[in-house]
Amino acid sequence: MPRVCTICTHPEREAINQALIANEPYRVIAQRYAASPDAVYRHKIDHLPAKLAQAEAAKETALADDLLGQVKALRNKAISILGKAEAAGDLRTALLGIREARACVELLLEVEGELHRHPVVNVLIAPEWLELRTVILQSLAPFPDARAALARTLTDGHYAG
Ligand SMILES: [Zn+2]
Repeated sequence: MPRVCTICTHPEREAINQALIANEPYRVIAQRYAASPDAVYRHKIDHLPAKLAQAEAAKETALADDLLGQVKALRNKAISILGKAEAAGDLRTALLGIREARACVELLLEVEGELHRHPVVNVLIAPEWLELRTVILQSLAPFPDARAALARTLTDGHYAG
């Protein structure tokens, strides 16, 4: 039977969490905030870790922004590589650049998803990837066969490298 946690719903829950983090005894905390020691104990075991993870995730938002900056730098690099490969008619180099760029984007998005506590990040619908994919497909315009094959592969999500 699920039951409401009297600490999570307690008006002083932030102060109680602080006391728990400071490792004060359950009985002392319970007495101070007129709660049951059992409830304080259960709350520490069952709920406090999630609260701490949320706080940690909030602190990491700046890092996530930085990761997004790296995605954009990567995208610019991919544009540069693709432009050179295109000018040289070098399809092999262009495809290698695409493969590396996509692997990096996936990694960055996974990290970002962890920080934001999203269970799954789908790279195929992430805005950064859609933008990069558009650039890649535009750059491959001189290679219609490769472009069509790549577009199919990316859409199916079976780009196994
Ligand atoms: Zn609780």
